Amino acid sequence: MAENKERIACIKPDCKGDLNPLFEKHLKGYCMPCFDAIEKAARDLYIKNNIKDLNPFQNISDKVEILLTVFNYQQFYDPLINLIEYPKSKFELVAEMTEHELRKLSQKVSVQLKSPNQKERLHAVEIANLMAGLTNFDLDQLLLELLDVPESGNAIFRRSGSMVIEELLLRLQEGNTEALLHLAFVDNESVTEKLISLLDNEESKIDNYHEALKHAALNAGWEITPTRQKRHLYYHQSQILDLMEPPSTAHTRLDLYTDAHLACPLCKGPLLLLANLAPQIVEKLLGSEIAPVRIPFYYCNQCSLISEEIFCEFEKADRASWHACNNIKYPPLLEPASLHFEDLPYKNLSFEVGATPQDPFLFYEFWLDNLRPHKSKFGGAPDWLQNCDYPTCPACQRLMKFILQIDAAGLGIFELDSHYAFFCDICRSISATVRQCT
Ligand SMILES: [Zn+2]
Ligand SMILES: [Zn+2]
Ligand SMILES: [Zn+2]
Repeated sequence: MAENKERIACIKPDCKGDLNPLFEKHLKGYCMPCFDAIEKAARDLYIKNNIKDLNPFQNISDKVEILLTVFNYQQFYDPLINLIEYPKSKFELVAEMTEHELRKLSQKVSVQLKSPNQKERLHAVEIANLMAGLTNFDLDQLLLELLDVPESGNAIFRRSGSMVIEELLLRLQEGNTEALLHLAFVDNESVTEKLISLLDNEESKIDNYHEALKHAALNAGWEITPTRQKRHLYYHQSQILDLMEPPSTAHTRLDLYTDAHLACPLCKGPLLLLANLAPQIVEKLLGSEIAPVRIPFYYCNQCSLISEEIFCEFEKADRASWHACNNIKYPPLLEPASLHFEDLPYKNLSFEVGATPQDPFLFYEFWLDNLRPHKSKFGGAPDWLQNCDYPTCPACQRLMKFILQIDAAGLGIFELDSHYAFFCDICRSISATVRQCT
């Protein structure tokens, strides 16, 4: 109390704050909060009066130059400069390029790939990935160069032509594990046969080739069946999901995170339906790849944090039930959740399904995150935040197939969350959700 008496009152009328007399001169008689507010107002006014527009695209009409400029300015920040953004995204710019423009772009990328600056190399790899996902441009020349770029990633090698495949197979024979990771993405029968045939002879110089191939295959979204066939763990049809605000009924619409009107059997919190896919939607989006069936996906906000995987059983057409295997996976002493459905950060979100089918691996690599505001998708390959984690079906013990990903982080719901939905296309009566955070 004695110390308090020595403090002096803030000079701002009506302010009940006080300050230490030692700082009176520095704070100009104001208390700390008032002083900060005055300083901030002065700074804001200065910025408002002095901010200048900068349009780096003013004198550029060439699409390739525009794209490279977008990349150069993407991290630019100066409070006194109002950077005019290009009205089109990188995504749109690349998708609209002519063959001639793509050739010019690939030459630029090729030069940038050799840059000693890692950021520049990453930009080049990012552009190459956009070209791979959005165009049919022949990428072989670029892929040959990417083979020796450490930041290249693996998924881009799905676009390998005969020249690159030949080089990769050579490297594989020399025991190069990177080549195996790249080759697993090549969706070509003879390549797959070659990879699988190496399991039976001792030709491979890769240590524990069986494990290495299993890992490379999972990474590329497939597994080797007991009869030594390739089984895809994703549907080739791929659509981007965009949040609909306000929800409309005019488009193909998916309602997510709806109330299951059930208590979670484990934590007693609200059980959600991450999605309840109607057979028409499944058919419309995945076409002939799957026979139409209604697929419900259970999700619990609390339990999914602990176990990540939640299984749902739906033997009877419209009735979903909690799979008993969930009860074994969880620790028994989970705090009962006091949450209600209304309290959840996400509830009843509606998504519009993109009109154009996309490459199943578009935006696959984690560092391509900044290419789109969010990357929720239906079909295609999952964009894992952590290691790939296809759940095992509790009924048939086979890996389940990916069907839906909601990028909750991109939606601003959770900071770094992605929710994935899977379906067992063998039993056709089991679904699962998986939650990953970074
Ligand atoms: Zn004050
Ligand atoms: Zn729960
Ligand atoms: Zn199954």
